[in-house]
Amino acid sequence: MQFEPIIGLEVHCQLATNSKLFCACSTVFGADANHQVCEVCLGMPGTLPVLNKTAVHYAIKLAIAVGGRINEQSTFARKQYFYPDLPKGYQITQFEQPYCEGGVVQVDKETRVELIRIHIEEDAGKNVHARDSSHIDYNRAGMPLVEIVSKPTIRSAAEAAAYLRSLRSLVRHLGISDGNLEEGSFRCDANVSLKPVGSSVLGTRCEIKNLNSFRYVERAINFEIERQRELIINGMPVIQQTLLFDAELGRTIPMRSKEESHDYRYFPDPDLPFLRISKERIKTITAALPELPLAMASRIAEQYTLPDHDAHLLTQDKVVAHYFEQVVLACENSVSSKIVANWVIGEVIPLASEQNWNMSNPVIPYESLAGLLKLIGIGTVSSKIAKVVFEEMVKSGENPALIVDKLGLVQVSDEGAIAKIVDQVIEENPEQVTQYLSGKDKVLGFFVGQIMRASKGKMNPGLVNSILLKKLDQRREHN
Ligand SMILES: [Zn+2]
Repeated sequence: MQFEPIIGLEVHCQLATNSKLFCACSTVFGADANHQVCEVCLGMPGTLPVLNKTAVHYAIKLAIAVGGRINEQSTFARKQYFYPDLPKGYQITQFEQPYCEGGVVQVDKETRVELIRIHIEEDAGKNVHARDSSHIDYNRAGMPLVEIVSKPTIRSAAEAAAYLRSLRSLVRHLGISDGNLEEGSFRCDANVSLKPVGSSVLGTRCEIKNLNSFRYVERAINFEIERQRELIINGMPVIQQTLLFDAELGRTIPMRSKEESHDYRYFPDPDLPFLRISKERIKTITAALPELPLAMASRIAEQYTLPDHDAHLLTQDKVVAHYFEQVVLACENSVSSKIVANWVIGEVIPLASEQNWNMSNPVIPYESLAGLLKLIGIGTVSSKIAKVVFEEMVKSGENPALIVDKLGLVQVSDEGAIAKIVDQVIEENPEQVTQYLSGKDKVLGFFVGQIMRASKGKMNPGLVNSILLKKLDQRREHN
């Protein structure tokens, strides 16, 4: 029997506010344990939560961007459960009436993932297990989150990862979350079940909790699909449970049996009034919404005549897209936009992620990259030498023209000088000349390599090629 996976994702995305959802505690990452807590987020008797306006503003931006239905009136509920990471004994979340229902995340031109709902909730604290004791850090307790719940329409681990990437790109474009997976501001639970192809009966689902890397999401879901397939094929039941993904073992492991929503005994939080979102407010926020990733990608593809793939990579992060556009502008048409795109995609993005650059204040400012690309444009350096200069720029932060000057990297475009080295290399390698003349064109690469080595890579490669071909063909005529 053929099975198909049914995958639904619940994403917890931390809103980039300065203070927590219901109190004034700071949300800055990395503070010492329990240094960002107060009576309110610890739920001391007699304290009252006060809803963070900015968090609501950010949540509304997201709802509008995915085209969700925003409820004019929504409510907060208490979700009771007894784990030590929850200091109040309940979590404040939205249950029966979330602020947003429906909506769609457009992954690319063809793929879209429909949403069931988005709701606002607070985060729980964190259990920290040492060798022979357990501790709790409540700094996270009360952090503002939106939970984005997709319909179970995702059909593969790869599609799940693509959806998550698009969603993260979207929240970053909107400026409502840093989407940082390592710091836990963007994490996901995956519900996975299998059903026979063609059947409408859903199988038992398992939930994999707290996946905080796109790669783990793919690995965990793939593992879980295989695990359930094996069980079903061997006539064993799939038991509904909550799982964790152990990256080292590469497998999911049981965490606890799955609660049903009645286990949480939800009830409306008597401390919080209705959340009201007026049509006027929605209108105002809609009008101020920035350009969204897909729209930006198609604009950039068109405006700079780039392949869709390049435009997609450049617009994953709007700060990168902005950087690219500034470099193009500063290059003043001395090189094509495609060359700028190649440099940003091939050099800047990988280096920025490797060295953790803040792209709004990158180690290579846009003027410097433009300066380097201009040098290619006017033929001062070859693209190959430009890579050397680029590395030097990363190291020293110096201006590209200065580096070229200091290291004596100016490209040699003097035809006489090039011809001299070409002649010399031809003289020194009679065997390869014979090979070339007998039709082995591949040997050209050997000559170019030798010439470039003799000139330390500084010869203008276009001129080297044409002069070399001319000289070799002269030999042919003499033969
Ligand atoms: Zn607090």
